[in-house]
Amino acid sequence: MSVNIESYQSIQADVNAKNVLLVAVSKTKPNEDIQALYALGHRDFGENYVQELVDKHSILPNDIHWHFIGHLQSNKVKYIAPFVYLIHGVDSLKLLQEINKQAAKCNRVIDCLLQVHIATEETKFGFDADELKAFMQQSVWETLPHIRIKGLMGMASNTDNTEQIRKEFKALHFLYSKLQEQIPTANTLSMGMSADYPIAIEEGSNLVRVGSLLFGARNYSN
Ligand SMILES: *Cc1c(COP(=O)(O)O)cnc(C)c1O
Repeated sequence: MSVNIESYQSIQADVNAKNVLLVAVSKTKPNEDIQALYALGHRDFGENYVQELVDKHSILPNDIHWHFIGHLQSNKVKYIAPFVYLIHGVDSLKLLQEINKQAAKCNRVIDCLLQVHIATEETKFGFDADELKAFMQQSVWETLPHIRIKGLMGMASNTDNTEQIRKEFKALHFLYSKLQEQIPTANTLSMGMSADYPIAIEEGSNLVRVGSLLFGARNYSN
């Protein structure tokens, strides 16, 4: 087990004082690591891969709040719809419609965050600012009773340039405040990871997704 309990406790104390939710990102990590934080009272965990999440959910305690933070394919929504707590990466209307459909089958309303592309990298998923604006003008969510838009999620560029990162978080926070004017249920701004969560909180994040600072570096080979 490689959980860094001291690091967990200091990050948890810091975010508690600021009313920020810490989602412990446990992708690729064993169940024992999750259980170690669960034993300390932690309940919010983030996963990126559908099959891994389904497996972990079937074994671990059922009061865990499972956050899906990866790129979600429409054809896989059905596997997580019965239990997922919050889907962070909604990046198309098609995906939102599929979540609505699968949530209806489970008699649930599923909370969703729209993912916004704020980084300079080409590879990251999400709406850009113009697409988000167009999306909001359509008010599509009003026709989807089994989803609830809770806010926005974004990832800053992977760079040492903290001013660049801050600029990107500021841009996301601005879009979030616009969204809040339109959607009263929006109360969540998911931004910040191990490398940049302090900047994200300074720029208005109220949910940080932290993995490697808690669980150590990831090894994707297995
Ligand atoms: C993996 C991942 C994280 C956690 O990254 P760390 O750098 O390990 O904190 C956060 N958010 C998303 C979307 C991720 O895919």
